[in-house]
Amino acid sequence: MADKDYYRILGVEKGAARDEVKKAYKKLAMKYHPDRAPEDKKKEYEEKFKEINEAASVLADNKKRQQYDQFGSSAFSGAGGAGGFQGYDYSDIMSQFRSGTFGDFDDLFEHIFSRSSGGRRGVRQRRGADLGYETEITLEEVYSGAKKSISLNKLERCPDCEGKGAHEFERCHHCAGSGYIKRTQRTPFGLFQQTGPCPACQGQGASPSDRCSKCGGEGVVRKRKELEVSIPAGVEEGMRLRVRGEGEIGENGGPSGDLYVIIHVKEHKVFVRKEHDLHLTVPISFTQAALGDEIEVPTIDGKAKLKIPAGTASETIFRMNNKGLPVLDTNESGDEMVKVRIEVPKKLNKKQIELIKQLDEEKPSVSFLKKMFGG
Ligand SMILES: [Zn+2]
Ligand SMILES: [Zn+2]
Repeated sequence: MADKDYYRILGVEKGAARDEVKKAYKKLAMKYHPDRAPEDKKKEYEEKFKEINEAASVLADNKKRQQYDQFGSSAFSGAGGAGGFQGYDYSDIMSQFRSGTFGDFDDLFEHIFSRSSGGRRGVRQRRGADLGYETEITLEEVYSGAKKSISLNKLERCPDCEGKGAHEFERCHHCAGSGYIKRTQRTPFGLFQQTGPCPACQGQGASPSDRCSKCGGEGVVRKRKELEVSIPAGVEEGMRLRVRGEGEIGENGGPSGDLYVIIHVKEHKVFVRKEHDLHLTVPISFTQAALGDEIEVPTIDGKAKLKIPAGTASETIFRMNNKGLPVLDTNESGDEMVKVRIEVPKKLNKKQIELIKQLDEEKPSVSFLKKMFGG
């Protein structure tokens, strides 16, 4: 993925202060808000709006900005680990602009980008961290798909206080227990009556009057959790399967992170995998090669018969259609490639030696032996 220049997108200098980032974002977000797009430029405006939001979400956050300065935008793309760019819901952002729910631009800015930046009034939500888990499976499991039990040690909602951090609460005086406060405000979009979460109780309507002893008031505890993960047939070495919402729990009701199960495939003692095909080598005798035969070869799920035509050279490869591995998310399969190797006996008894000598005297023995030994 090409590196995005977030500074250029927002038109700010590399060392720009957060306030400058905010200012630049405001200007651009108002300019490119999809609601203001001319009919023929809807798509373009929307893309631009997303780009601006992505850039601001990184540059407004010290930690992410540091990562970005060091690693570029690739640090935030893909299904990366903790701290990655966390898929903002742009339609949500757009509708907040539209409805003026956050009458005050500062509030809006902080609301959108506070998941990690802090300093916002009201409830600060934060998405839980992503977790990674490595698991090893056999080639047979690649063939059939598998269920794996996974044991995670992760942050979960405290069962004692149900994540509230306390057992006793008293009604918030600031908002009279409603959790909301109404304000009328002048905004970039006109005059709005705004209802926002009460800053005193963070929208809870009540404040804790004790502290949960189990979680120390954090509302979360580290706990072992058993999980069964389905691994689809056809996965490959190094693949990462995302299990949505099985990462660590978010803060203040923020969404949970995701779990990434990293697949390792054990080496097989018979088959070598090449993409979806399975390769193996089987020994045959020189009589089988010379005269032809039907042999039994192992497959990933059992056995299959393979016809060896008369006069087969050593190292000949036979393809057995659809006896390979399934192709992920399709009904297709790879093939099994069987290489035959003619085994020349190391020890011969007297009779066998005699027979071979006789064979050698026969005409056209040269081509016959050539066939036998693949020479
Ligand atoms: Zn607790
Ligand atoms: Zn309150």
